[in-house]
Amino acid sequence: MSKATLIDMTKCVGCRSCQVTCKQWNDLPAEKTQLQPGLGLQNPRKLSASTFTVLQSHEVEDAAAPGGLRYLFAKRQCMHCDEPACASACPVTAMHKTAEGPVVYDDAKCIGCRYCMWACPFGVPTAEWDSLAPKIRKCTHCYDRLSQPPPAERNGQALSDEDRKRFAAAHAVPACVKQCPAGALQYGDREELLKEARARMAKAPGKYVDHIYGEKEAGGTGMLYLSPVAFDQLGFPDVGTKSYPAPSKVALGAVPPAVIGVGLALGGAYAVSKRKLEVEKAEGKAHDHHPEFAPLQKKLWTPANLALAALMAFGGISFLARFALGLGGATNLSDTYAWGLWIVFDLVWIAVAAGAFATAGLIYVLQRKDLYSIGRSAVLMGLLSYSFVTVTLLADLGLPWHFYQLGLQAPEHSAMFEVSWCVGLYVTVLLAEFLPVPFERWGLTKAQAIWKKWAPWYVVFALTLFVFLLSRNVAYAAVAAAAFGFLAWAFRTKDGEKPQPILLAIAAVTFSTMHQSSLGSLFLLMPDKLARQWWSPVMPVSFFLSSIAAGVALVILVEMWIAKAWKRELRVAQLAALGKVAFWALLVFEAFRLGDLAVRGQLAGAFAGPKSGLFAAEVVLGGVLPLALLATDKARRSPGLLALGAALACGGVVFNRVNVVMFAMNLKGIAPVFEPQAYAPSVFEWGVSVGLVAATIFLFGLGARLMPVLPKEEAASPR
Ligand code: SF4
Ligand code: SF4
Repeated sequence: MSKATLIDMTKCVGCRSCQVTCKQWNDLPAEKTQLQPGLGLQNPRKLSASTFTVLQSHEVEDAAAPGGLRYLFAKRQCMHCDEPACASACPVTAMHKTAEGPVVYDDAKCIGCRYCMWACPFGVPTAEWDSLAPKIRKCTHCYDRLSQPPPAERNGQALSDEDRKRFAAAHAVPACVKQCPAGALQYGDREELLKEARARMAKAPGKYVDHIYGEKEAGGTGMLYLSPVAFDQLGFPDVGTKSYPAPSKVALGAVPPAVIGVGLALGGAYAVSKRKLEVEKAEGKAHDHHPEFAPLQKKLWTPANLALAALMAFGGISFLARFALGLGGATNLSDTYAWGLWIVFDLVWIAVAAGAFATAGLIYVLQRKDLYSIGRSAVLMGLLSYSFVTVTLLADLGLPWHFYQLGLQAPEHSAMFEVSWCVGLYVTVLLAEFLPVPFERWGLTKAQAIWKKWAPWYVVFALTLFVFLLSRNVAYAAVAAAAFGFLAWAFRTKDGEKPQPILLAIAAVTFSTMHQSSLGSLFLLMPDKLARQWWSPVMPVSFFLSSIAAGVALVILVEMWIAKAWKRELRVAQLAALGKVAFWALLVFEAFRLGDLAVRGQLAGAFAGPKSGLFAAEVVLGGVLPLALLATDKARRSPGLLALGAALACGGVVFNRVNVVMFAMNLKGIAPVFEPQAYAPSVFEWGVSVGLVAATIFLFGLGARLMPVLPKEEAASPR
């Protein structure tokens, strides 16, 4: 039976013994504090890495009290939720709910992602910002005390069963409960304590409000409060009664079958497209476009590349500073803004890098051979972008050297776990997609033969592993292995055929579908913080759809930039074809998200009230306007209109991600005062981000000069 603590505020005398003894038991350092105006005896102001329990002091009007004012004290700490959002968020089970009830933290597993801090609806977990190895800190309900065994003997005498029971009642309780001199805290079985609370309410009508805070809040908590006044008068947040992890459980539970389903659907789409192409070829309506590729013959050290090198050096210094000064020292992150520019940057970059999977899907799965000439550049840009996303994550993690824990732990439904594995495996798929280019450049025929033979089987392994990790079910993994093994066999390169990375393209689209949507799932745990225009149970679908629009739009912009910067032919026909894909992807995304708001009865409200300006700007500038610009083939063939439409479509999705993490996020700050701290990225946060963008552009240019990434000019004929 789950344990809990009943806190009866009518009994608390405000002595703060609980606060002091919590410090002593947990060996927490003192904080330099001073009494704060408006907070009465409360000191310090909020929970922190050095304070796990704060006694809040309130003066409430009460005609029966001397002077018409009554003092009330509320002990605030972790609520030990029955279904904790923090544990659901954690990708390595460092934060987890024990069978006995306490929600505990294991710093040996923690990677320092700080997702638990964002997810908690009560504003509880804090980080050791002053440390080079910042751990997360919060109350553990004294789990270490509860699990201590009774001594074997006392004064040379073995303990009787009765003695053991007395020991448990007297000692195996949280330190604060043990120390409370007024009997305001009681520890025991949750159900028993609820009965006790109801009995107290029944026995003294009018003494308590008819509400046990924690009985139903956030799905139920292990801290139960009785109060003589309404809880909102004492600053307790209204977090609703629904379990916070429920929507992400549903979304992440769908991942393993979705991987198999999407993979098989893509296999079917490829078989149909291939057949259609063969028929068209036989009828003379289509022919293979096989442009040749060649390294770019351009000088490397141009003024632009020198500037990029300087920005990269700035990025390198910032990256080193991050580790020399620690996360707290090098960034402006705080307990309120536990995520900042780097997470925005990762979300944005992953969305706009979706062009790599979209083009691989179009070229190889849907057999759009007319787009073949842009495939290599899209994959190189995707590979560089995703590689640098992982570098940014490395900088952002508080304890990156615990990264291996992602391979050892099995969280039940953590979107962060899904994204980490999915992005990691996708980077390997991107690398495998790109490898034929250096093989071709440097005549590595043996490596090419190995790639041709083993790349499809690597895909089978990677997708099966992913399904197993997400389901922890051998039967599911066996189905995945059989399904993808069948596709690898069915689409094998026959003798005399030119090898095509069909399985790699299927894996690229499948992995991307999963992690682009799971990035949306990250925010399902935050219905209390993200503004209603953005939070939705179908956010994962919105994130996936919008990434296709942004990714394809960015491919258009990159291709136009290549043509302009290197004075190459603008492949208008291919770009117009991509513009059409971007148009439809954007249309489906906007229709889906506005339709979702309409179905949930929130469409009218989305354009009124707080944050409506941001939402309207996103919809109009990033949706309606680019859709109008990209609507007709004539407009898409006009370079100016196409560039503007693509820039607005891409910018709209970028703005969406920035809104989701920053502007539309109503962060409350840490309990109990809930005063959000302001945030502006530090120079080092900018340095790492700008440096990595510069590195992507520079290395793309270098890759195009060294390897056959771009089509030979004469081969780039319009469709
Ligand atoms: S109050 Fe916050 S930190 Fe404590 S268990 Fe609930 S979600 Fe986790
Ligand atoms: S790994 Fe992340 S979510 Fe888990 S406890 Fe550490 S910081 Fe929190």
